[in-house]
Amino acid sequence: MTTQLNKSKGENMGLPTLNDYLILEKIGTGSYATVHRAVRKGGNREVVAIKCVDSTILSKSAIDNLLTEINLLQILKHNNIVEMKDFFWHEGRIYIVMEYCDGGDLSSFIKRKSQLPETICRKFLQQLALALRYLRSHDVCHLDLKPQNLLLTRKPVLTLKVGDFGFAQYLSTSESKFTMCGSPLYMAPEILLRREYDARVDLWSVGVIMYECLFGKAPYSSSSLEELVEKIKSCKTIEIPKGCSVSPECKNLLMSLLKHDPNERLSFDDFFAHEFLDLAHAPTEENHEKAIALIQSAVKADTEGDIEEAFHLYSEALRYFIPQLTNEADHDRRKHLRVRVNEYINRAEKLKAMCMAGNSGKLESSGRKELLQGTSFGYQELRILSKSTTDMASALEMGEVGEQYLAEGNYDLALEKLRACLGILVPLINKEPPGRRRELLNQQIEIWLTQAESIKGLLATRAVDDSPKESKHLQDQCVLQ
Ligand code: ADP
Ligand code: MG
Repeated sequence: MTTQLNKSKGENMGLPTLNDYLILEKIGTGSYATVHRAVRKGGNREVVAIKCVDSTILSKSAIDNLLTEINLLQILKHNNIVEMKDFFWHEGRIYIVMEYCDGGDLSSFIKRKSQLPETICRKFLQQLALALRYLRSHDVCHLDLKPQNLLLTRKPVLTLKVGDFGFAQYLSTSESKFTMCGSPLYMAPEILLRREYDARVDLWSVGVIMYECLFGKAPYSSSSLEELVEKIKSCKTIEIPKGCSVSPECKNLLMSLLKHDPNERLSFDDFFAHEFLDLAHAPTEENHEKAIALIQSAVKADTEGDIEEAFHLYSEALRYFIPQLTNEADHDRRKHLRVRVNEYINRAEKLKAMCMAGNSGKLESSGRKELLQGTSFGYQELRILSKSTTDMASALEMGEVGEQYLAEGNYDLALEKLRACLGILVPLINKEPPGRRRELLNQQIEIWLTQAESIKGLLATRAVDDSPKESKHLQDQCVLQ
């Protein structure tokens, strides 16, 4: 980072100085700084947070960290990163003026709630992932991710913002450094054990934060640094605390992040693409556009009588609409969206019933095969051709069971069976030699993949099924006292 800070800024240039702010109560103390709530005098009396560091007691490297923080914050602009509004020096102190986060930090939020439900944990992690994706696009790693450095704002909706860039680095300069920075409890084993490290240390910290959100304490919570280092050195297995249960996707993400060896740890790309986060359907402006386009295509397919396609399109649109609905803070807009979403849910359910019609619980019925398994003869042929390959035959059977559950509206089991079946068929097709069987298998995999996606849409609607009750429950959990 070459940008030089103008030390005289604020002192000589007539730009903001301490006198422009009314300093209010202290809201935080960190390793170097104290943070106060403050109000900008005159004008709109904007409420801000001011981080104050006494530069006279800081070492050169600590001052460098602070300057990096200021330089970075000047460049980084993202909804999930604390915005820096200004900075200035005053009588040996450095002041950073930031947007004020009225929900405090994630650490106090977790303490108040003891532990967070998976839905809230997902919401926070999604936002953290969006910030990290943005940081990566600017080649920045944070190096001190921990709940104390993740701030919350309450309005218009509960939003997490990454703060405290005091240790953040550009990737090129952080690669293979041996300096210790950050907080031991959240520090990746490779830093703690003084090995080479790179940006992947942030992913370990995300794992620890996720663990703490879910279970109220860090996986290696210890009473001393020695004890912590000992646990890390011995690669002590990380376990889900007794009596706590989490969904398989949640557990998978947690355990893939908390891998001691950075080469075994989930990569950034796999993290951003992870099923538990479902970033692809996060409530962003861009995804709202996508949802609307999907609905338009669904309506078109519906009018043209392509019920299978319409069912799939409605279900896919719901995967975008549900997170938007649960995230909508404005009462009227929320009400309006709910009415529309309910219409889409009803239509998707009706279309599903129409797709399944003719099946009436009988797996071999050809009517259903026409609709759901492409050409029924094709599927029957595949069944016959697969008889000699036990794995394939039993996977196909599993797929049929999945479809049966889908018809009955048992979406959890339907998804489980289709996933298990695809988990066998997809690797099998890679080994399958070209020919009729490969062609048929390909078709069937396509059909079941589409169905599995549609089921996810129907499952997502659960969050609003008994809308008023469920969403109130969610809101309650998000309200900060
Ligand atoms: P340090 O570099 O000393 O750790 P931080 O930037 O992390 O300083 O700030 C210390 C604490 O102050 C945070 O953990 C948080 O509780 C509070 N804090 C920091 N910035 C803000 C802000 N913008 N809004 C509200 N609280 C803040
Ligand atoms: Mg801090």
